Amino acid sequence: MSAIPVANSILAVRKAVAAARTSGLRIGCVPTMGALHEGHASLIRSAKAVSDFVVTTIFVNPTQFGPNEDFTKYPRTLEADCETCAAAGADLIFAPTAEEMYPPNAFAFVDVGTLGEHLCGPSRPGHFRGVCTIVMKLFQIVQPDVAVFGAKDAQQARIIRRMILDLNVPVQLMIAPTIRERDGLAMSSRNRYLTPIERSRAPEIYRVLCEVRDRALHGERDVARLESALRGMLETIPESRLDYAAIVDDETMTPITQIDRPALIAVAIYVGKTRLIDNVTIPQTTTI
Ligand code: AMP
Repeated sequence: MSAIPVANSILAVRKAVAAARTSGLRIGCVPTMGALHEGHASLIRSAKAVSDFVVTTIFVNPTQFGPNEDFTKYPRTLEADCETCAAAGADLIFAPTAEEMYPPNAFAFVDVGTLGEHLCGPSRPGHFRGVCTIVMKLFQIVQPDVAVFGAKDAQQARIIRRMILDLNVPVQLMIAPTIRERDGLAMSSRNRYLTPIERSRAPEIYRVLCEVRDRALHGERDVARLESALRGMLETIPESRLDYAAIVDDETMTPITQIDRPALIAVAIYVGKTRLIDNVTIPQTTTI
């Protein structure tokens, strides 16, 4: 059994963080929804490498789920999560209730504008508004010096970067690389929804992403051709349904026609009933 303290109230977190700060410690924060895996653990280790007192937040945030999404069945595994946090070097877990985070009379939120309309936006209306609102609230509560997010959620990371810049949030943002299973599948709390046969098909997503990135790196600049190959290959995954597969500007996530700047290849695809997302970046390349 781990000995990591768990705070459920905002007051308790504020007190613990204030005490750490008074002792001269640098505060790190890793926001999560729990059901922790090695991807989350790597974020905690990254936070610990650049700060002294790491707060991992565990909160399945209702405002970022749509009405027909998996909020109620989202895995909740607090006991195991405590072990993972302790092993990865976290110093405190903040695991509030929905009532603690959203009192009934609250109605202010963070509006992310058109950034939330690309990629996952159309199929998850309101999702990034919910994400930014909860992240901003967690930043206000923990007041970290540094916060770590995963590259796995590419659009989320970019939107949070913009939110921090646009709203002058005094926190340093770190984006840590996507941690994958040995066969390439990006680790995700939702992978546990996959049946064994779906799980055996899911690594194809990353294989296809890498193949399309390689085509771009080998000189194919035409985004329409690359996207067509991307979609064509993904559609061969049995019992899958493509939500989107797009190659966009790496920063603004807006469509591009040529690979003439850093680009992001992003995919959301249902394998069976489970919606999986993944992405790779195409770094800036020079044309000869
Ligand atoms: P979640 O609990 O899914 O909301 O994710 C919490 C944080 O962990 C987010 O910043 C995610 O981007 C990050 N994360 C999730 N999966 C991975 C992964 N496989 N590798 C790295 N970071 C991840």
